[in-house]
Amino acid sequence: MIRSLLRRLARAPVAIDDSAWHAALQAVPFIARFSEAEYERLRALVSRFLATKEMAGAGGLELTAAIQLHIAIQACVPVLELGLHWYRGWTSIVVYPAQFTVPRRRTDDIGVVHEYEETLSGEAWEGGPLIVSWDDAARAGRAPSPYSVVIHEFAHKLDMLDGDADGCPPFDPKLHVGMSRAAWQETLHDAFARFSAELDLIEAELPPHIDPESEAADPYYAHLPLDAYAAQSPAEFFAVSSEAFFVDAARLQLAFPDWYALLARFFRQDPLARNMTP
Ligand SMILES: [Zn+2]
Repeated sequence: MIRSLLRRLARAPVAIDDSAWHAALQAVPFIARFSEAEYERLRALVSRFLATKEMAGAGGLELTAAIQLHIAIQACVPVLELGLHWYRGWTSIVVYPAQFTVPRRRTDDIGVVHEYEETLSGEAWEGGPLIVSWDDAARAGRAPSPYSVVIHEFAHKLDMLDGDADGCPPFDPKLHVGMSRAAWQETLHDAFARFSAELDLIEAELPPHIDPESEAADPYYAHLPLDAYAAQSPAEFFAVSSEAFFVDAARLQLAFPDWYALLARFFRQDPLARNMTP
């Protein structure tokens, strides 16, 4: 009895004071066109999110209440019309001050083990923690970075809710009436194939003196409707598309209208229509 009471108390929504809430909203430009009702629902969701997820600073980051609030707001946008239970099965969010390196180990086809380090701005483990760089999270939706590492990693969490990250999240029979995995896969793979072909074309046209990994190549990749990283796999295509869906909706819709429409049915939101409302 006492334990269940304590558990309930521990999970009571976190109160967010008005000035902190309004300051945090100002820092997330891609939700500037939310309606009053949406802000209200977002605030309630964020309060419960902060009560149920545990954030920890790493790499010397002092995890302030403002940082936690900012990350929680971005994280709750994708599930605004789905509910917090779509982030079930894990609790920890680790926040680094900036990009972080992780040790990797890979055995190649002939059995040679390669050990190396990878620099990341975010990572999501199946059933485990979600990790983000605060420096990257804070720049979400701001030029020259129209992306959101928070939405990216939380999209991976939605995808992994039914197992491996394959770019197809589970559907709810009530919320996603008429949606099927087969139709999703078809639309996803069609958009993914077209995007990959576009990327191949750009890489083939890169002048030989330009290193594809260097900043000098950026103006060439800027012609793509999504970050080139989306071509890594269907799972990354879904995560990068989810960022674009909320942060740069018009561009995504123009490039992949069917895919955009499907994402709108899944998230049960239409950011483009919201942005066009006078
Ligand atoms: Zn990813």
